[in-house]
Amino acid sequence: MFIIAAGVLGAILGSFLNALLFRYNTGRSVAAGRSRCMSCGHTLAPLDLVPVLSYAVLLGKCRYCQSHISVQYPLVEALSALLAVALYVRNPEPLHFFLSLFVWMVLLFVLVYDLRHKIIPWSAMGLAILGAGALLVLDREFTSEALTAGVALAAPLLLLSAVSRGTWMGWADGVLEFGLGLLLGLSAGASALVMAFWIGAVVGITLLILPRGYTMKSEVPFAPFLILGAALSYFLHVDFLQTLPALFF
Ligand SMILES: [Zn+2]
Repeated sequence: MFIIAAGVLGAILGSFLNALLFRYNTGRSVAAGRSRCMSCGHTLAPLDLVPVLSYAVLLGKCRYCQSHISVQYPLVEALSALLAVALYVRNPEPLHFFLSLFVWMVLLFVLVYDLRHKIIPWSAMGLAILGAGALLVLDREFTSEALTAGVALAAPLLLLSAVSRGTWMGWADGVLEFGLGLLLGLSAGASALVMAFWIGAVVGITLLILPRGYTMKSEVPFAPFLILGAALSYFLHVDFLQTLPALFF
């Protein structure tokens, strides 16, 4: 019962996240004004705004002008619902659940925003770090060890930025990694970082091979890989430092 409620809450938050993603930094207020079709400007009725279901029923087209609706809407809504359910299963204690949901919603925002705009809003990063820090305080794990994990994981990325003056790696990626280090701790965080580089390499090579005009100089956002790696480590408990020794000894 509570799991279903968590999923519904996640889907609703996801549709709020979509509005935020489309309106952030465009001068349009998130709170003011009803949602409109991006194409024809028709005000959307509540029935057009049911997370995931509306998109499915309308077959991805606006009810009024038949133009295609971005697949980002149902994807973000479904991912948010999945995140909420996974977090609830992981730790149903209310305060922990809402705080960790907040952190992962911010991370999902950063992931999609970086994909769309190749930049990470500093405000979102600040919220992610604050949220991760608050989780540590709540779990009484706000120790020098946790802070060291954040610094140690951010350091290699910041070094890459410093050496390349921000061209190989954006400064924001290192700051984001500090927050992920707080969230994951050193061991799981290191695995997440390694996976981020692997996934990034596979995607980067694929983009080079595809005849889409990508070159070595193309700007590929890295934050999505960092967050994807963190999600694999956090939810699927992928931790090389813990599991690899166990395989050999
Ligand atoms: Zn329309």
